[in-house]
Amino acid sequence: MNAAPKIDLLDLSREQLAEVLKRHGQPAFRAKQIHRQLHVNLVAAMTEMSDLPKALREELAAELQIGSLTLATVHEGDHGMTRKALFKLPDGSPVETVLMVYPDRATVCVSSQSGCPMGCVFCATGRLGFLHDLTAGQIVEQVYWAERLLRASDFPVKKLTNVVFMGMGEPFNNYDQWRTSVDILHDPEGFNMGARSYTVSTVGLVPGIRKLADDPLPINLAISLHAPDDETRSALMPVNKSFPIASLLDSVKDYTEKTNRRVSFEYVLLQEKNDFPEQADLLGRLLRKSEIRPALMHVNLIPWNPVPGAPLGRSHRKRVLAFQEGLHKHGVPCTIRVERGVDIGAACGQLAGTA
Ligand code: SAH
Ligand code: SF4
Repeated sequence: MNAAPKIDLLDLSREQLAEVLKRHGQPAFRAKQIHRQLHVNLVAAMTEMSDLPKALREELAAELQIGSLTLATVHEGDHGMTRKALFKLPDGSPVETVLMVYPDRATVCVSSQSGCPMGCVFCATGRLGFLHDLTAGQIVEQVYWAERLLRASDFPVKKLTNVVFMGMGEPFNNYDQWRTSVDILHDPEGFNMGARSYTVSTVGLVPGIRKLADDPLPINLAISLHAPDDETRSALMPVNKSFPIASLLDSVKDYTEKTNRRVSFEYVLLQEKNDFPEQADLLGRLLRKSEIRPALMHVNLIPWNPVPGAPLGRSHRKRVLAFQEGLHKHGVPCTIRVERGVDIGAACGQLAGTA
């Protein structure tokens, strides 16, 4: 008979942790102590909890574990300022995490799923297909890996300033675990990451956008748009057949009206697929017509990062600049993203679990 799977402590809220310890006959102060060890000191193993009696540590270790990811490899890019970690789930499926350090801030890009079911043709993760939803604890664990690395480093920044949910997978396709991970990271008695530090990117799942609009926590929202018309978008992103552009923009308009928060539209530029001047013009008109206030929107142009085997090309610089100009003509704020990690396959859409 197999032993029951261990509980991952990183999955638990403060209240749930207290409940588990109560079952072990432990008083509330112990739960507090362990919570601190997990989410403030970021200990990675029960044996490191030196303030607990040894017998209790052993008793707990038989039923509980801290995290469930195994670190396989770490690659360095951008002269050491970008680190890409490849973790494995217990069954060997890949999970990738990217830490990006800047002179004054540090961002970690985390995965919400292993692989992705959404099938966008330009994306390495999409080409991998869907393997697993991650648990909240597995999402939190990626953040703690990055924070531990920063603490132990001689980087100018010793603490994460931002968490972006833009790694493998579609966060809104795993909404509850994703949202629970934010609660755990946000807990003021735990990791205490500020509410404005989170950005979630969605392929355009309208129910998720509508749900986030009612969320009291001001999480930043990015929408992967990538085309100005349904025909082009459906060819690139199968999700568009379920949630076409009009329904997507309608949900984004409602979101901005409810929250008064600015959204960014991500637009991957693919040579001669979605980067024609007429498409920039169409996109500009579409966004202006959407009734989303220009002050509450922003377009992020991302020159496509090559994905092996994808019959697509990265837009030439001239076309990228012309596209930006086309949007500016309509008064749509628009910047070109400066990419990190292209040299180690860690940039947007390159995560495929291949080390
Ligand atoms: N699933 C979510 C979040 C992960 S992808 C989403 O799709 O929004 C994060 C961003 O990278 C998305 O905007 C996605 O469209 C973009 N992306 C995917 N593949 C890319 C590639 N090869 N080059 C550049 N950006 C890419
Ligand atoms: Fe999934 Fe996002 Fe990649 Fe599309 S772009 S396949 S939604 S990870």
